[in-house]
Amino acid sequence: MSGSYRVPRDTAAPALPALRIAGLRRTYGSVVAVAGVDLEVRHGEMLTVLGPSGCGKTTVLRLVAGLEDPDAGTIEIGGRRVAGAGGSVPPERRRVGMVFQDHALFPHLTVADNVAYGIRRDPDRSLRVAELLELVNLPDAGDRMPHELSGGMQQRVAIARALAPRPDIVLLDEPFSNLDAALRTQLRGDLREILRAAGASGILVTHDQDEALTLGDRMAVMVRGRIEQCAPPEIVYGEPATPFVATFVGIGNLVHADCRHGTGMTRLGPVRLVGAGGRVEGGALAVIRPEHVELEEAADGPAEAGAWRIVRRRFTGSEILLEVEAPDGVRLWCEAGPAVRRLRTGDAVRLRLRDVETVAFAPARTHQPSGVEPARPEAEALVER
Ligand code: ATP
Repeated sequence: MSGSYRVPRDTAAPALPALRIAGLRRTYGSVVAVAGVDLEVRHGEMLTVLGPSGCGKTTVLRLVAGLEDPDAGTIEIGGRRVAGAGGSVPPERRRVGMVFQDHALFPHLTVADNVAYGIRRDPDRSLRVAELLELVNLPDAGDRMPHELSGGMQQRVAIARALAPRPDIVLLDEPFSNLDAALRTQLRGDLREILRAAGASGILVTHDQDEALTLGDRMAVMVRGRIEQCAPPEIVYGEPATPFVATFVGIGNLVHADCRHGTGMTRLGPVRLVGAGGRVEGGALAVIRPEHVELEEAADGPAEAGAWRIVRRRFTGSEILLEVEAPDGVRLWCEAGPAVRRLRTGDAVRLRLRDVETVAFAPARTHQPSGVEPARPEAEALVER
């Protein structure tokens, strides 16, 4: 994308968050879509919300946009109460920009007129439209019609249109889900740069964990109408707050561990426990990621005492994941390093734990929320049996 357009950074960035949601609740008959959500999006921040289908992500965005009213709770945008006690501000006066998965450009308007739609009465709109088209790397597309553009280009126009009135916050609902994989990856990177250059704050909901991890300054993991964890992506991955987060974000093997004074002894060896896991004492489940385990070929093949057997092999393009099974039937997902990449299903391996820092959950926390589809078909099988 072009780097020439830059909104001057506000040197005295407002202390107030771009968005503050407290105690938000919304039901539809007996369905509790949003069950008490607290969230904050800081000024200039991109918050991603990740969760399985039906967990209430879109409803949160619709409540923020003013397309729905909450049953309880408050919403403040740019420090101004827009929903909750004291009434509701209509959507067009909330200072939000919206980008949805289907572009929703006006088919009969040119690209420039689409971008200008929200600033029709602005005397400087031509200049602003030109700036925005340059920002989204479509400087010469102003006179074209939406149907003449690719899906990715149309989505850039939709982003420019959302940014045109300088909203306090941009709401993005699965904005890349209608694009093919290569375009999605490219537009993801572009979106981050575009919003940064515009100094915009955003909230993006998705069920794609790569999107949530790569785009979010912080990410919130939502399930059954609640936020289970909200933290920078590295923390969510490295120190998941609940077993659901551990197995929904990345692959998390839940392995029995006997925990004492910040160390968890697992069947593969000791792990150092961090975060709340460091205070767990006694029997618990530790999170072992595929990259925590080192594999080597068992010298004596399947006859070797304690050897694990490869039961599934999954090539993702950038890595090979192996599901291995111990003689007692316990299964784990491991990352295949260069030494074992050529091994196939049925081959025997030895496992060794690297120097690992991870979390553990005491028994009361190890239940999985019911009624939730695992992120991967095998997620349920990751809990050591
Ligand atoms: P997806 O990723 O599939 O879009 P989501 O996490 O965005 O899912 P929502 O669309 O917010 O989920 O829906 C949350 C729950 O509320 C679901 O059970 C859904 O069926 C229900 N729901 C949402 N809107 C309505 C509505 N207008 N009337 C009745 N139920 C609704």
